[in-house]
Amino acid sequence: MMGDERRCIALIAHDGRKQALVDFAGANRSFFERFKLIGTGTTGGRLQSIDLEVECLASGPLGGDAQIAARITEGQVHAVIFFRDPMGKHPHEPDINMLLRQCDVHNIPLATNAATAHLLIGGF
Ligand code: PGA
Repeated sequence: MMGDERRCIALIAHDGRKQALVDFAGANRSFFERFKLIGTGTTGGRLQSIDLEVECLASGPLGGDAQIAARITEGQVHAVIFFRDPMGKHPHEPDINMLLRQCDVHNIPLATNAATAHLLIGGF
């Protein structure tokens, strides 16, 4: 069987930003359909509900951010769109920081808001 040759984009949003990410993905559907998509559990489920094909990992607080960080380390992720809630406190802050750090370690483009995500997808 052939491997999945598509480049991979990871999608994550904190609760307060999930609708914004769903709106962004829906508005740019034809772009996202060209990629393999992975997401943290709840975010991925929300994106599936607008008929995007997404591999759902664990929910963020249960290790989903850590899973995405590991995939970045393995060279399997080519961009990350992570709509963070700047007002929220999160029990899994160490995992979130690890994910952001892995983006920097491996020079992976990372967008944390819609304005930057718009610029990021224009660069692909
Ligand atoms: P979730 O995780 O998509 O499962 O809510 C996101 C996060 O909190 O990092």
